[in-house]
Amino acid sequence: MNFIIAICFALVFAVVAVRSRSRQAALWFSAGFAVASLSAISELLVAYTDLPRLFAVLAFGSVLGGMILLRVGIGELYDVRIAPLWATFFFAACVVLDLVIYGLPRSTLRHAISYQTPFALVVLASAVAVFASARHAKIDRVLGFLLVATGLHFFAKAALAVTAGAGTKAADYVHTNYAVISQGSTAVLIVAVGLTLLSVLVLDIMADERSNSERDMLSGLANRRGFENGVSAARLVAPAVLHSVMICDIDRFKSINDTFGHHAGDQVIRAFADLLKSIAEPDFIVGRIGGEEFGVFMPNTTVDAAMLFAGVARRETMAITVEGLPKSLTVSASFGVAEVVAGESLDDTMRRADMALYEAKRAGRNCVRQARSARSASPDIRVVS
Ligand code: GH3
Ligand code: MG
Ligand code: MG
Repeated sequence: MNFIIAICFALVFAVVAVRSRSRQAALWFSAGFAVASLSAISELLVAYTDLPRLFAVLAFGSVLGGMILLRVGIGELYDVRIAPLWATFFFAACVVLDLVIYGLPRSTLRHAISYQTPFALVVLASAVAVFASARHAKIDRVLGFLLVATGLHFFAKAALAVTAGAGTKAADYVHTNYAVISQGSTAVLIVAVGLTLLSVLVLDIMADERSNSERDMLSGLANRRGFENGVSAARLVAPAVLHSVMICDIDRFKSINDTFGHHAGDQVIRAFADLLKSIAEPDFIVGRIGGEEFGVFMPNTTVDAAMLFAGVARRETMAITVEGLPKSLTVSASFGVAEVVAGESLDDTMRRADMALYEAKRAGRNCVRQARSARSASPDIRVVS
């Protein structure tokens, strides 16, 4: 049973490694489970061959080796690494210890504690790494406590070996009740640890996928979906506060493409995105919401402050220089600004900002217009150049 479980985990972690940002960690986990799977075979060979001592040490070494590899992987994942030399020395010392205690009478506290303590130490060291790391998500805490429980259960096993009896010789072990309980409890805990580690990696993959699906590759800004999700989240945090939104669109962009090529056009989009990012406050949400159209959500910002921001963006746009474009070419953009009214849908606010942008285009471009407030009856659009 444990053999099949360990092999399954080895395979699953190898597959997950292909997609995981913690590829190294996933590969260490895969190696750890593969090595640990050998213990089940070794334990059978202890009972059914004439080389019980060799296979008993192999069984011990493969479980311990597997656990050390898991610790190495956890070190990668949680950025709390162990020195390879230390790990190798610890492993070698424990194998020697196992050889030494091989002849000791089994079912004694001395034998049981000496046998189980190395496992407990490695797993508890993994728990320490998880708690010491900078990652504090719920799933990390679950993993940490699970590792503590797994580490401590090895001491419980030592006590059980003494009370229930672990056989008089190594070869008797597989026939004892203790072996059934011991392997069963370890299997449950190892499956729980394996599944939790898997969850940590899969949740990371899902977060990466989500972030990629909300990002625009050309500009590095949020795409429309990322922008809308970001704005929704920001409005949830402060629903009653005044926010503002700005939509802007590069002027006569098609002619830049047509005259200087698509690549030069891309460079202009990038430069404009960089400009918006550089002048935006850290809590502003900046997105590329269309081809050469951008949105900026300004939380906790009055529409007057937003108009000033748009004015700065407009002036700075004219200073944009792009390699491959003549110095004489001035890039310009048009801007529409709207106040976000509490209770109004983002769609409605964006529509008002878009109308203001359209007014800016109609007025000859390279200017800023403020949308009529959704609260006022005035149909006017404020003119700011
Ligand atoms: P206006 O001043 O009215 O905004 O005129 P415009 O030429 O900027 O607007 P129009 O909508 O006519 O053209 C926008 C062009 O932007 C058309 C499209 O081919 C181009 N475009 C859209 N996405 C990209 C992109 O990612 N890279 C490049 N280089 N061009 C793009
Ligand atoms: Mg345009
Ligand atoms: Mg456009």
